[in-house]
Amino acid sequence: MIDQAHKIRLLMELRKGGITNTQVLSAIERLPRELFVSTVFEDQAYDNSALPIAHGQTISQPFVVAFMTQALELGPRMKVLEIGTGSGYQAAVLAQLCRRVYTIERYRSLMAEAEQRFTAVQLSNITAITGDGNRGWPEQAPFPRIIVTAAAPEIPKTLVDQLDNGGIMIVPVGDQDGQDILRVEKTVEGVDVRMLLPVRFVPMVEGVVKDI
Ligand code: SAH
Repeated sequence: MIDQAHKIRLLMELRKGGITNTQVLSAIERLPRELFVSTVFEDQAYDNSALPIAHGQTISQPFVVAFMTQALELGPRMKVLEIGTGSGYQAAVLAQLCRRVYTIERYRSLMAEAEQRFTAVQLSNITAITGDGNRGWPEQAPFPRIIVTAAAPEIPKTLVDQLDNGGIMIVPVGDQDGQDILRVEKTVEGVDVRMLLPVRFVPMVEGVVKDI
């Protein structure tokens, strides 16, 4: 019951912060975030904060997950590419709002754990692989939507190439001192870029880690 009260408090906080999309709020309400954090942090699962996961990575702050999901302007028939599976939480939120999520994680162990969570929460429309997200997923491209959940030093060109015309990518861009979430829309003339929110993400790193 404590969890339920915490969850309601979190949802109120998200609404206050400007998350107005009721589908996004319901997706977060339905998803047990405690399954995506390690047991030592279970009691903080509904705090509006990022929490550590393995390998010095983090599960993003719920507000940032909600904000980026809302900014993606998802439709139920869309497929979405996510770079940086991490705990799998963001992918599990997306999967409730679109047709299929393709998600790439550079640590094989994180990817494998995330896959178990997708099964546990009965989401069968997520395909996860171990890989370097800098390459995108050429076999499945183009995508109407792309979300990057690790900080890129600049707008990743390869990923822009894998966007549909009219497609939208939400990506934090910047260095270790801080980043801005950008909304990048691919148009016939090129890209339309808007700055949405200052944030702090773990960096995007090249190469894969086959740690299992
Ligand atoms: N979306 C995650 C947050 C992940 S933190 C969640 O909801 O929990 C960022 C993740 O991006 C980390 O797990 C990190 O290992 C991964 N990452 C960093 N660089 C990457 C790359 N080049 N390709 C794929 N994943 C990458």
